Amino acid sequence: MSERIFNFSAGPGCLPESVLEQVRQDVWNIDGSGIGILEHSHRGKVVDRVFEECEADLRSALGVPDSHRILFMTGGASAQAFLVPMNFLSKDRTADYLVTGMWAQKAMEQAALFGNPHVAASSADANHNYIPSAEQTTYSQRPAYVHFTSNNTIFGTEFHAEPTPPEGAPLICDMSSDIASRPVDVSKYALIYAGAQKNLGPAGVTIVIAHDHLIESGRKDLPPLLQYRTFTKELSRTNTPPVFAVYVVGLVAKWLLEAGGLGAVRQINERKAKHIYDVLDRSSFYRGHARPDSRSLMNVTFNLPNEDLEKKFVTEAKLQGMDGLKGHRSVGGIRASIYNAFPEAGCRALAEFMREFERKHG
Ligand SMILES: *Cc1c(COP(=O)(O)O)cnc(C)c1O
Repeated sequence: MSERIFNFSAGPGCLPESVLEQVRQDVWNIDGSGIGILEHSHRGKVVDRVFEECEADLRSALGVPDSHRILFMTGGASAQAFLVPMNFLSKDRTADYLVTGMWAQKAMEQAALFGNPHVAASSADANHNYIPSAEQTTYSQRPAYVHFTSNNTIFGTEFHAEPTPPEGAPLICDMSSDIASRPVDVSKYALIYAGAQKNLGPAGVTIVIAHDHLIESGRKDLPPLLQYRTFTKELSRTNTPPVFAVYVVGLVAKWLLEAGGLGAVRQINERKAKHIYDVLDRSSFYRGHARPDSRSLMNVTFNLPNEDLEKKFVTEAKLQGMDGLKGHRSVGGIRASIYNAFPEAGCRALAEFMREFERKHG
């Protein structure tokens, strides 16, 4: 595997190497069927097996209770940002949004097409470098739901506990960039959505975990493919689904279970992130973007003293086999995305490179 380098990409992110090895075989011939996974009918036995196992293994890995369905949808998290208000909001109602980053902001704006979004909290005053506290959050009266983004991929902040919505308000979460990175009590959520391409698999499938009651409460006067209940009824196979992406997510779910489940995965993720945050904490050369109490375990964001040094950092890191470190334009600087499948050795390598770079240029 010597030709592979450390891929710090924010998404699509890296996948476990054992999963990629299995994919290599199954693209040619899966389950001894003589046909590759890319070529099988979505109504055949092999794909039945793939979907059933993916669902069961995700349910087990993520601890999804029987009250909740797991749906395989398309359109990414971006489509969920409008499907949620389209299905569960109306012109005469308000939905509460915690605006902690660009994706949260975009989701809130889409809600205005269908009803009245209320900004219950916002971190825009400090370029989204923190997660607002409960005291800084003001909910409306009887919101249709409360929406938040658990990990702010661009800014490198993360909720360390879910917000507490007003009694009876469904909690909805864009968990695209930290799903499966730590244990979560799914029963607290009415709906969770995540594009697979950060922590769960390749681009092309969106994982939706939703309570039966919420699904049933959705509007019925929409095209079937825009209603969640259609995916429940037809087991996510109303039309041709992204079979390959679901298949890879299934392998990643098995890999999570083999790793010891999400408790074990969180410990590894904490260790990985610490290598890099420790360098930030001991340096006045690097400035972390996220406030320490709001730091993400998935995306570490920081700046250098000036843009020239930031460019040099990215170029030199690449020469040492570390790619994808350029920050998003709204923060600038550096972003190291270290999703589940990203190896700890890569975090150590980056930390070492950072210390060396500071010695040379600090
Ligand atoms: C990447 C990302 C998105 C956008 O996902 P798509 O699948 O490309 O639509 C939305 N929200 C968050 C938190 C993300 O990290």
